[in-house]
Amino acid sequence: MQDTAIDLPARRGTVIPVREGQTIRIVNVHGTQVLDCWAFDRADPSCCMSMEHTRSYNSRIVPRVGDRLVDNRYRPMFEVVSDTSPGIHDTLMCSCSAGIYARMGHPGHDNCEDNLHQALAGAGLAVGFTPAPFNIFMNYPFSPEGEISRKPPVSAPGDHVEWKCLIPEAVVVISCCPQDLTPINGESMSPCGARCLIFDR
Ligand SMILES: [Zn+2]
Repeated sequence: MQDTAIDLPARRGTVIPVREGQTIRIVNVHGTQVLDCWAFDRADPSCCMSMEHTRSYNSRIVPRVGDRLVDNRYRPMFEVVSDTSPGIHDTLMCSCSAGIYARMGHPGHDNCEDNLHQALAGAGLAVGFTPAPFNIFMNYPFSPEGEISRKPPVSAPGDHVEWKCLIPEAVVVISCCPQDLTPINGESMSPCGARCLIFDR
């Protein structure tokens, strides 16, 4: 049963509360949009989804269906229950930030790091650090030598991932990445919105 639908506006961050037993479906409506995603424990926001702990837990760079997304105390927060995309996501790169755009010659550009903290502030929360995001649908392949490339997403319109929440109350934040200077959000370099659905199952 579908309970809640949440539109994720282009270039902005959105807070999405998710309770234990609920499933969050994150939909790439246009197929080309990278979504930087974080999750915090409502009871203690210093406890957050951790990409380095998740890679260790699953012995895998990019989580697949059946894997768990764990926090910085090695506690499972979500289980990946569905992924209709080709499974190309990124767990290695930081979110885009004021510093990245300043280095590119575009100071003041919208960025995912600011989106995270502005969205949290709008929900009355403050976190004094920026965890590494789960960059859903981001296509940054790396060679056996460790060289990283920046490619457009390979997901299709409507592709989605689903995570089942395993902790009492999670605060998920998703930023529709505003990167419009490289093709990481598609060849047209036109960042767009996305959508979330919350199911009580
Ligand atoms: Zn970004």
